[in-house]
Amino acid sequence: MPMRPSPKLRPTAWDALVVLCVAALAIGLAVFQWRGGTQESLTAVVSVDGEEIDRVSLERAAGKRTYQAGAYTLTVEYAAGSARVLSSDCPTQDCVHTGIITRSGQSIVCLPARIIIRLEGGAAKDGGVDAVLG
Ligand SMILES: [Zn+2]
Repeated sequence: MPMRPSPKLRPTAWDALVVLCVAALAIGLAVFQWRGGTQESLTAVVSVDGEEIDRVSLERAAGKRTYQAGAYTLTVEYAAGSARVLSSDCPTQDCVHTGIITRSGQSIVCLPARIIIRLEGGAAKDGGVDAVLG
């Protein structure tokens, strides 16, 4: 056991409290980094033909939303911290094949429907804990 040069004998409950606080702080920080945020929360911005039609906070799962863009219909699924095109009736299916986007700056583009789903906010820099790669 490490010896502490303490003038007074501290109760062990105090030590336990300090350990708990440090642990809680560490976990909180890890979750914070994992969520990818030192700034505002991650937001999905949906635009058709350059015009913003929807803005979804990805702080928590927002479920599925359907967008009509031109002759096509896209279903986008918003989870906590990520977005993906679940289904689309466009001919190329590139948007569906793009898969999940999780970082600010990433985007899903559907050329036939001229729809762009772009992530903004959250942590823009690398260095966070991120195991999902495209
Ligand atoms: Zn598409």
